Amino acid sequence: MAMVYNWQLGRPMSYPYEEKHPQWQFAFVFNINRCIACQTCTMACKSTWTFAKGQESMWWNNVETKPFGGYPRNWDAKLLSMLEGVNPGQQSWDAAAKNGREKPYGEFTGMTIFDAAKKYVGPEGPQAVLGYQPTEAEWRTPNLHEDAAQGMKYQPGAFDQTSQLPEHRVWFFYLARICNHCTYPGCLGACPRQAIYKRPEDGIVLIDQERCRGYRKCVEGCPYKKVMFRPNTRTSEKCVGCYPRIEGKDPELSPNGEPVETRCMSVCVGKIRMQGLVKIGDDGKWANDPENPLCYLIRERQVALPLYPQFGTEPNGFYIPPRWVPRGYLQQMFGPGVDRAIEQYCCPDRELLAVLQLFRAQRQILFKFKIEKGPKVAEVPIKMPNGQIKVQHLYNDTVMGFNKFGKEVVRVTIDEPIHKRPFAKHANSI
Ligand code: SF4
Ligand code: SF4
Repeated sequence: MAMVYNWQLGRPMSYPYEEKHPQWQFAFVFNINRCIACQTCTMACKSTWTFAKGQESMWWNNVETKPFGGYPRNWDAKLLSMLEGVNPGQQSWDAAAKNGREKPYGEFTGMTIFDAAKKYVGPEGPQAVLGYQPTEAEWRTPNLHEDAAQGMKYQPGAFDQTSQLPEHRVWFFYLARICNHCTYPGCLGACPRQAIYKRPEDGIVLIDQERCRGYRKCVEGCPYKKVMFRPNTRTSEKCVGCYPRIEGKDPELSPNGEPVETRCMSVCVGKIRMQGLVKIGDDGKWANDPENPLCYLIRERQVALPLYPQFGTEPNGFYIPPRWVPRGYLQQMFGPGVDRAIEQYCCPDRELLAVLQLFRAQRQILFKFKIEKGPKVAEVPIKMPNGQIKVQHLYNDTVMGFNKFGKEVVRVTIDEPIHKRPFAKHANSI
């Protein structure tokens, strides 16, 4: 195994291949405070890529209700238990080691799926990646436990009436998921045929269907269980990142070659999703690009966090954590950056509030934003996570988004404009 640097863990880690990086990296932020589990994203993906025979149980995009839901069933709890079994009581973070861009969340002192594979010998002997193969039954119920909450049994008067946001005693939340197009993919590391590759131009992870022999090692090795086996072709398939759209090759959507967001992102009803491409420098690190909305949310402000970074694949999917969920649960899922992320999201400052307006404002990928300052319009008292009241100062700023070619493609104000239709022309005008 080679040693590679994982910035999300704040340390080097072992990986089956040498460190190698694309020029740009496919990445996304999901604000799961806003997801309504309408499954529009799920169906947009299904109707585009996985509607054929043999793909019936294949959901490249899924939205599960946490804490009980999961596709495949219990995928995360199972792997967390396996890691705990290999490294009991040691799967923890040293948050005090936090140090700039190299260690933005501190240092993970436990074992990743690659570290743990060296200590775990299963029935098939030593493997490159710690993982497991879900059963057919576990793939069969993509949305079991939808809307099932965790908390106390109902007893009249037993609920804490003062417990409002940010933390609820009875809670659930929706976790929308796709392939994270990881920097160090578990699927790629586990494939004995080297049929999986990461594209140098955008970091999208693909399976070469000609090389795949259906051994399903990728299914076992992906900690997020985002590779699926197709029984009639006897090969594995996964999210392709809607690469023709990313390449700007859809003649209807991108007549001039503008990169466009994926199907699941473009259709999002709750406006929770923003997807894009981040520049990777010659040194293999994220370029310092604070005007790119994704870099701003993830690296500058750290308001969006990686999903289970401790697995070690350096996933490129990031989440703004839901503010009403118990912190312990969120810290296990998103690492030690949770408190800071929620603190900022509860009462966003002027700049952060402006960038948050760009979610689903345009389907072309935004490479840059700019803010034009506007007048102050309100002061709003906000209850913070520690119970204190903070006053949010609201300004009617305008945020603009620019596409790959530097063209302004969207302009949104904080104060939503009201358009009155002429009553003489429209019968139903007020
Ligand atoms: S379309 Fe958006 S809001 Fe609806 S389930 Fe998907 S992520 Fe959630
Ligand atoms: S999420 Fe899974 S399938 Fe996607 S790149 Fe990472 S390891 Fe591979």
